[in-house]
Amino acid sequence: MSHARRAVAPQLPADHGPLLLIGAGGIGAPAVLALAAAGLRRLRVVDDDEVDLTNLHRQILFADTDVGRPKLDAFVDALALRAPDLTVDPRPGRFTPDTVDDLLQGIGVVLDATDNFASRFLIADACYLAGVPVVHAAAIRWRATVLATAARGAPCYRCLFEDLPEGPAPDCATAGVMGPVCGVSGAIAADRALALLRGDPTAAGHVTTYDGLTDRLRRVPIAARATCALCGPDRTIRSIDLSRYIADECAAQIGDHHG
Ligand SMILES: [Zn+2]
Repeated sequence: MSHARRAVAPQLPADHGPLLLIGAGGIGAPAVLALAAAGLRRLRVVDDDEVDLTNLHRQILFADTDVGRPKLDAFVDALALRAPDLTVDPRPGRFTPDTVDDLLQGIGVVLDATDNFASRFLIADACYLAGVPVVHAAAIRWRATVLATAARGAPCYRCLFEDLPEGPAPDCATAGVMGPVCGVSGAIAADRALALLRGDPTAAGHVTTYDGLTDRLRRVPIAARATCALCGPDRTIRSIDLSRYIADECAAQIGDHHG
């Protein structure tokens, strides 16, 4: 069985760098299923949450019997059945300034499937400084947004979003998200991550949005910003400083920040 699966979808070399998934939730689940089917062999995943009943409509690797379990445990168990060729390195906890170096060690590409701006900016900065490409994937209400950045050079995440938003942002617990929109976000993110792992230079440098109400899928190039604090010629972000990443938990998603 496993040999037949690999032969049908040889989209990655067997010695590819591991993918680090940050967030084992509604985007991470469909993304990893697509990646495993396409030949992903090595996955590191970090999460510190538990499965909640309200997660099940979009976090498609979890069953009713997983409610109350650590997401990481349920995620690993489900993948053992669905993707037996995939080697999973589970890391309980969070992606923080203290864990950045350990979590990024040896990683080929990062898939940011978190749900708040503080995490997204920390991931963007840490990965840029470490020279690791990132796919940022978000979903809120009917909108999916995916942004991929290359290992080094412009444009980066801060070229588009600059800095954490000020003031209140939509709360994803109350704003909600449609399950299929998470699936779209995860599928696009998987496609970008595969391309980055293959070294395809066209995979990065644009943002893709999907609107589930109008069925519009758009891909827009990101312009490099000369004054960017992370990748510009006069960049000021040269190390990870915790004070840069203080923001409301579960703030808006990258698409809403953009407007
Ligand atoms: Zn930049």
